[in-house]
Amino acid sequence: MRRVGIVGGGQLARMLALAGRRLGIRCDVLDPAENPCAAPVARHLRGSFEDTQALDHLVADCGVATFDFENVAVAPLQHLAQRMPVRPSPRVLAIAQDRLEEKRFIRGLGIPVAEFHTVDSLQDLRAAAVQLRLPCLIKTRRFGYDGKGQWKLTQLDDCERVWSELEGTPAIAEAWVPYRREVSLIVVRDAQANHRLYPLTENHHVDGILGYSLAPAPTSCEMQAEAESLAFRLVDALDYVGVLAIELFEMDGHLMINEIAPRVHNSGHWTIEGAHCSQFENHLRAVTDLPLGDAAARGYSVMLNVIGEWPECEGLLACAGVNVHDYEKTPRPGRKIGHLTVCADSVEELHGRAQALLRAAGRGELWAGLQPRIAAMVG
Ligand code: AMP
Repeated sequence: MRRVGIVGGGQLARMLALAGRRLGIRCDVLDPAENPCAAPVARHLRGSFEDTQALDHLVADCGVATFDFENVAVAPLQHLAQRMPVRPSPRVLAIAQDRLEEKRFIRGLGIPVAEFHTVDSLQDLRAAAVQLRLPCLIKTRRFGYDGKGQWKLTQLDDCERVWSELEGTPAIAEAWVPYRREVSLIVVRDAQANHRLYPLTENHHVDGILGYSLAPAPTSCEMQAEAESLAFRLVDALDYVGVLAIELFEMDGHLMINEIAPRVHNSGHWTIEGAHCSQFENHLRAVTDLPLGDAAARGYSVMLNVIGEWPECEGLLACAGVNVHDYEKTPRPGRKIGHLTVCADSVEELHGRAQALLRAAGRGELWAGLQPRIAAMVG
């Protein structure tokens, strides 16, 4: 029996563990919480991510370790990597968890990213704002997520306020990208350098959090090929093993990387029902040296995040083609507590099903934005 240790026990670990069960792969999750999201479906080892004793339990019982979020300290993972394979590697994590390192690395491969400058002082901040022109974005180098740790600078007079709110945290200043849309790419690579690539996904944010995704994103063959080329360059340069998520901006008909996440990703949740082999199963296959699965889409999908509170379940389940994923998390405003995926064999069918889903989910206000994007999926 294969056993995978996961550092972190959130909803991503939960979905990994659920995917693993079908293949006879067991997951152990290390998480400091009393009852983390993955605990009902995986063995839970309670301990901090820095606790080398707790990490050693993973070594004793598992053949390989992975992680479900990127804000784990690198040193304990290096400790782990001396005793067992850690996939993806701590080196990848070190790059991905620091926006400055990440952008330098990606730019070094000749892949476009927004222009950026290091911000370690008020003088740096002012100089960057002048060079990049306004508006520009200030982002903390570490621990930012869902738009947190970010400031939009619209006037030079705001530099002092933003600097004081940073409280000395190392940051970067980034040029404002007037993008047409946001897309993401999920790629999986194994230790023999085999790859599988999911079709591009189009993502729409609401209040800084991913609201919904459509897949396959309406796009040209040229753009899918451009995405594939940059994804392969990236994973090969990182000698990556597992699933990597790449968040991109589309601008002037080309792609630019916003950031990468060295793990399974919210914008890939549609793959559970909408692709032949899900991102979760493919990640487990990659890290356990099993053959990779088919990443092609089965049809057309829309994934809607459930944020804050659950709509009435009966109404959702009455919708055709809808799959409900409840993470069993305590509802709280702004918290992702589940997701809903609706799949269909045709764009026409998806149109009707997605509209019914939004109504049942009490998210009818999203329809005006979603409808034209579904229509664009044709052809
Ligand atoms: P991030 O935390 O880098 O993923 O950014 C969160 C969101 O802020 C993105 O999904 C974009 O909508 C927006 N954003 C980030 N960077 C830029 C940029 N350079 N220009 C314009 N919008 C951005």
